[in-house]
Amino acid sequence: MQIPFLSFEYQNQIIRKDILQTFEGFFDSNWYVLGERVKNFEKEYANFNGVNYCIGVGNGLDALHLSLKALNIGSGDEVIIPSNTYIATALAVSYTGANPVFAEPKIETYNIDPDRIESAINSKTKAIMPVHLYGQACEMDAIMAIAKKHNLFVVEDNAQAHGAAYKGKLTGSFGQVNATSFYPGKNLGALGDAGAITTNDEKIAQRVMRLRNYGSDKKYFNEEIGFNTRLDECQAGFLSVKLKHLKDWTRQRQQIAQWYNEALRGTGDIILPQIAPGATHVYHIYLIRTRKRDALQSWLSENGIGTLIHYPVPPHLQKAYHDLGYKKGDFPIAEEIADTCLSLPLWPGMKENEVTYVAQKIKIFFK
Ligand SMILES: *Cc1c(COP(=O)(O)O)cnc(C)c1O
Repeated sequence: MQIPFLSFEYQNQIIRKDILQTFEGFFDSNWYVLGERVKNFEKEYANFNGVNYCIGVGNGLDALHLSLKALNIGSGDEVIIPSNTYIATALAVSYTGANPVFAEPKIETYNIDPDRIESAINSKTKAIMPVHLYGQACEMDAIMAIAKKHNLFVVEDNAQAHGAAYKGKLTGSFGQVNATSFYPGKNLGALGDAGAITTNDEKIAQRVMRLRNYGSDKKYFNEEIGFNTRLDECQAGFLSVKLKHLKDWTRQRQQIAQWYNEALRGTGDIILPQIAPGATHVYHIYLIRTRKRDALQSWLSENGIGTLIHYPVPPHLQKAYHDLGYKKGDFPIAEEIADTCLSLPLWPGMKENEVTYVAQKIKIFFK
């Protein structure tokens, strides 16, 4: 059996007819940038996410960047982010001229540890950016309370957690302004790059709409130095098609995770995903940890099973961030996760016998 890390075959077969029809409608419309499809998808996604406004942009990194710009965060400011996130979270902070400041995650949930945020706060701190990593909601009650106490903004990085919730409230609806990505492999993925900002604040929504479109409210009149990062009209149409299936596909992800949990419990030194009280997990990634990570990955690869490492190098140890002056050992929890984590195959439509096959090969490895 060959089991890829990710397959779109099942999803694509379900949406094929609707996607082709959407493309035809788009093609024949003679209108290709910022049209009806973007407006419709923005309404649908705002509704899905339980917020007043959704503004489509070119990708998740731009969504994060514009979120920070909309809060006037810039040079001389600091933004607290988890030490174990994908590089985009840190890059968005750097783009504004502000500095990313890292706070360690909890080793159980891999999400930012609320108890380690306050020691990173100083007079330059402007915002906290929680990342709902791998699809699990962060402990938002504690994070919002710290932000309120210190008068800081919260900007959620919701790229991996469409539809996850903390105490019944959806991720992407807590912060003053929040960002998400619709990169093809995300839980809601376009057929190319795409992203969005979600907010309940009308002024922020208007500012982001201006920033994504050359800093212009009215064609050829520019209020500020903006960007060109609009959600593509064609991708918006595709996203509307896929959004209709997101709840079903999320349930499938959760079922697959359940199958893995049952099959792998007690195997070798494997640590299974753990969920914080009050949080839900939408399993963008099903991640296990083991001391024998590299050998296990090679063994699975020899057996036709694709895996990935999310992520092998934490931001503070990336060459790109050499100038921040960090060294190995500065964020031991993030480094521990990077050294031991392995993401197993998971996609909507993956069958129980495929999960069983992966689990069996893992069990044989540990024997
Ligand atoms: C994917 C991702 C991003 C960036 O999204 P792009 O659309 O690829 O720019 C940002 N943050 C996290 C946590 C992500 O997983």
